[in-house]
Amino acid sequence: QEGIVIVGAGQGGFQAAASLREAGFTGPVTLVGEEPGLPYQRPPLSKAYMKGDAGIEQIELRPAAFFADHDIQIVNARAEAIDRAAQRVVLEGGEALPYAHMILATGARNRPLPVPGRELAGVYYLRSHADADALRERLEGARRVVVIGAGFIGLEFAAVARTLGHEVTVIEAAARPLARAVSPEMSAFFADAHTSMGTSLLLGAGVIGLIGAAGHVTGVETTDGMVHPADFVVVGIGVTPNVELAAEAGLEVANGIVVDAHLSTMDPAISAIGDAVAYPSRFADGLVRLESVQNAVDQAKAVAARLTGRPAPYAAVPWFWSDQSDLKLQMVGLAGPTDDAVLRGDPASRRFSVFRFRDGVLTAIESVNRPADHMLGRRLLAGTPTITPEQAADESFELKSLLG
Ligand code: FAD
Repeated sequence: QEGIVIVGAGQGGFQAAASLREAGFTGPVTLVGEEPGLPYQRPPLSKAYMKGDAGIEQIELRPAAFFADHDIQIVNARAEAIDRAAQRVVLEGGEALPYAHMILATGARNRPLPVPGRELAGVYYLRSHADADALRERLEGARRVVVIGAGFIGLEFAAVARTLGHEVTVIEAAARPLARAVSPEMSAFFADAHTSMGTSLLLGAGVIGLIGAAGHVTGVETTDGMVHPADFVVVGIGVTPNVELAAEAGLEVANGIVVDAHLSTMDPAISAIGDAVAYPSRFADGLVRLESVQNAVDQAKAVAARLTGRPAPYAAVPWFWSDQSDLKLQMVGLAGPTDDAVLRGDPASRRFSVFRFRDGVLTAIESVNRPADHMLGRRLLAGTPTITPEQAADESFELKSLLG
């Protein structure tokens, strides 16, 4: 019997395999992944794992026995090509796996720094377990690190490096940290928080080159002509979705593998999920591509449900979290860059939320150390939220009363 082949054994690929079995699928399930070892979680790589508080066993999604018990075959190999006409996926080395259905869960890869000196030793990225191990080793000796990019990964890494006692400089081209993801108010809070941790945060600073000696990086040059000394450099300037396999097979690609509301590609025998996918969402205009555990997991569950006879359009509420030092940022919904921001609570208390509204309608909630606001947001945004900006701003107003 030809079964289901899943390409990419990360968060989404693993979840698809597990959910297929949970839903009673009895045919063969094969999980093809190019990384060695068992599927693991990436979030701890820039948090507990980087700090040294977790080992590989703690971040693996399941122990080896789970895959044996559930008859999920893991193939550690890179998928090189899809032969859609023959419904086969060709692996490195030439072996071809037939499929009745294929799920693409190829994720994303780091965007390389596009400046001279990028090939120097001592320049690190953080996506994989292997990347994290290399960085962790480097953290044991070196003192001065320059982080390029004040996105989630750059700031999470910066927080860990400060905790471990390193001198940390973060260089960001935009005028504020986390600019693509959160409100200006939340960016300002995180800028202050990192500065008070002792990190030097340079905003509006473009990197024009890496300086080196004897093949090793020694500094980062910015557009203002300054050179920031570095024993090593960590680059976190975003990712590129892994769409090549799909594109070469003739599937539609537009900043992600394009899927419909059921997460099916234009080939009904191929679905796609996770970081690699651009999908239609009621929380956005046009197609969105999200990079989060929630997105990969819920999309995997939706495809597994469809393949086992319970189809439904994918409609999950997007949510995300980031841990930086003792600050837990949680976000739910999707805000546009110009959405209004309404503060609930006092940022100085390090426990507050920013409610985002567009034309008076709630679009997202960003919370710091206020999990109850976040959880409420998940429930509100699953339906049609009725909360007003005035209610959001008024801490004496019981948010729970909105749930009826
Ligand atoms: P991935 O988990 O990246 O898995 C894709 C896999 O496919 C990879 O192993 C890749 O090597 C493999 N692959 C690609 N092409 C092929 C091929 N041709 N053949 C075989 N294998 C292939 N999200 C949150 O929600 N909260 C967080 O706090 C958070 N922190 C993060 C911290 C870090 C350091 C990183 C890197 C990510 C973090 N994320 C976080 C994002 C989250 O991990 C991703 O959104 C999630 O892993 C996406 O799942 P995925 O299955 O789409 O891709």
